[in-house]
Amino acid sequence: MRTELAVIGAGPAGLAASLAAAARGTRVALVDAATETGGQFYRQPAAGLAAGRPEALHHRWRTWERLRDGLAASSVRVLTDHHVWCVERESGGFTVHALLGPEQEEPAEVHARAVLLATGGYEHVLPFPGWTLPGVVTAGGAQAMLKGGLVVPGRRAVVAGTGPLLLPVATGLAAAGVEVAALVESTGPGRLARHGLALAGKLPEGAGYAARLLRHRVPVLARHTVVRAHGDDRLTGVTVAALDTAGRVRPGTERQLVCDTLAVGHGMLPHTDLAEGIGCGLDGLAVAVDAEQRTDVPGVWAAGESTGIGGAALALAEGHIAGCSAAAFLRGTAPDPAPAALKARTKLSSSAAALDAAYVPPAHWPEQVTDDTVVCRCEEVTAGAVRDALDLGAGDERTVKLLTRAGMGWCQGRMCAAAVAGLAGCPPSPSRRPFARPVPLGVLARQHSQEELS
Ligand SMILES: Cc1cc2nc3c(=O)[nH]c(=O)nc-3n(C[C@H](O)[C@H](O)[C@H](O)COP(=O)(O)OP(=O)(O)OC[C@H]3O[C@@H](n4cnc5c(N)ncnc54)[C@H](O)[C@@H]3O)c2cc1C
Repeated sequence: MRTELAVIGAGPAGLAASLAAAARGTRVALVDAATETGGQFYRQPAAGLAAGRPEALHHRWRTWERLRDGLAASSVRVLTDHHVWCVERESGGFTVHALLGPEQEEPAEVHARAVLLATGGYEHVLPFPGWTLPGVVTAGGAQAMLKGGLVVPGRRAVVAGTGPLLLPVATGLAAAGVEVAALVESTGPGRLARHGLALAGKLPEGAGYAARLLRHRVPVLARHTVVRAHGDDRLTGVTVAALDTAGRVRPGTERQLVCDTLAVGHGMLPHTDLAEGIGCGLDGLAVAVDAEQRTDVPGVWAAGESTGIGGAALALAEGHIAGCSAAAFLRGTAPDPAPAALKARTKLSSSAAALDAAYVPPAHWPEQVTDDTVVCRCEEVTAGAVRDALDLGAGDERTVKLLTRAGMGWCQGRMCAAAVAGLAGCPPSPSRRPFARPVPLGVLARQHSQEELS
C-alpha cells in the first residue's frame, strides 16, 4: 500500500503521533506487530477472552479510551500483526518491509513519503545463578501475561531487580490474587532522595504505589538483590541478600524466600534496530532526535521509548510533537504542537533522566554470576566461557561474541549483550543489527528476484 506517513509502533507514542498527523490532513498507516493497538502500557486482553473489566488492570484508562475512540473516528489505516523487519530508503520516500501474522512468513510492504518510529523499548535482565529455571519470568513478561492473557504466572511471587516498573508489577500481581512474598529493589531510598528535586512530580504516583503495597502487605526489601534462584526442574525459592553502598552483597545477610514465581527486571533498553538500519544516529543507546523529534535522516521521526526510556506519559507527549512535525513537513506548513505537550515533555524528560540515574543495577552484580550460569540462552554460553574469552584477550562484547557465539542466536544479543558487556567490564555498545526480526530466506530471495525483474 501507499501512504504519506508510516508510523511503526501503536503504543502511546505511535497512537498520539498518528492522531496528531491525521488531524492535520496527513494520510497515515499505523503498523504494529501486535494483534491489538495499545503497545506495552495499554496492552489489551485478547478479544477471545471477553474480558469484562479490562480497565481493572490499567492506570490512566481514560487516556486509553480517548486514544482508542480517536483512532476509530480517524482516517488512520491500522495494520496490526505486521512485524516490520526493515525500513528501506527508496526514491521519494521509504519502503516498510513487514512479515504478516503469527507465522511471520508472508511479506507485506508499505510505501510512505515519511516514517515515524515509535517502537518502544524492551526489558533488560541480568543473569544470576538459577535465572533460567521455569518460574523465573521478566517483570514486564509477568505484567504482559496479566494484561494480555488475564493469567497470573504463579501463586507466590517475588518481584525483584531495579526500576519503577517493579512497582506496577508487584501491585498488579497482588491485586490479581498472587501472594507477593517481597519486592526486592537493589536501589536504596538514599539514591532516590539524591534526585529528590527532579522526582518531586513523581511523589503522588510513588505514594499511590506505597499505599497499594501496604494494603496488599507486600514487604519491600530496598537495597537488596536476588543472589540465586533455587529449584530442580522449576523454581521453589530464591536467596536474597542486602547490598552495601558500593553495590556488593553484604556477607551474612542472605536469606531464603519460598516462591514459585520470580518476576525480575533491571530496567529497559530502547528498540533502535529499525532506526539504525536506515542510518539514524544514536545518542548513547537511544535514537537521537531534535526538538521536533526529527532524526538526522530527512523524512524520519522517532518518539517514545525508542528515543530514551521515560514512561507512557512522556511517550504520548513526544508522539504528539513528532506527529505534528511530520504532518507539517508533508504539508509544507509550520508545526503546531499543543503547548501542553511541549511543557509535559520538558517536565517528564527531567524526571526520566533522574529515574535513569537513580535506578541502576548493583555495580558489582557480575561477582554473583557463577561460572556455570548460562549468560546467552540462545547459544547456551556460560559465564565461564565468557570469562575464558576475556582471559584470551577479548575486551569487548563483539570479540566475546566471535570467540563464544554469545549473541549469535535467535534473539541476536537482545537478552545477553548488556550482561556480556558487564562481565567484560565495558559499556554496552549499540547493536547494529541489519534486520529487526528474523526473516525467512525465501522472503529475501523473492525480493531479490523481484528487484532483478523490475
Ligand atoms: C514488557 C513491558 C511491560 C511494561 N509494563 C508497564 C507497566 O505496567 N506500567 C508502566 O507504567 N509502564 C510499563 N512499561 C513501560 C511502558 O509500557 C512504556 O513507558 C510505554 O508503553 C512506552 O510507549 P511507546 O509508545 O514508546 O512504546 P510501547 O508501548 O512499547 O509500544 C511500542 C510498539 O511498537 C511495536 N513494535 C516494536 N517493534 C516493532 C516492529 N519491528 N514491527 C512492528 N511493531 C513493532 C510493539 O509491538 C509495540 O506495540 C512496560 C514496558 C514493557 C517493555
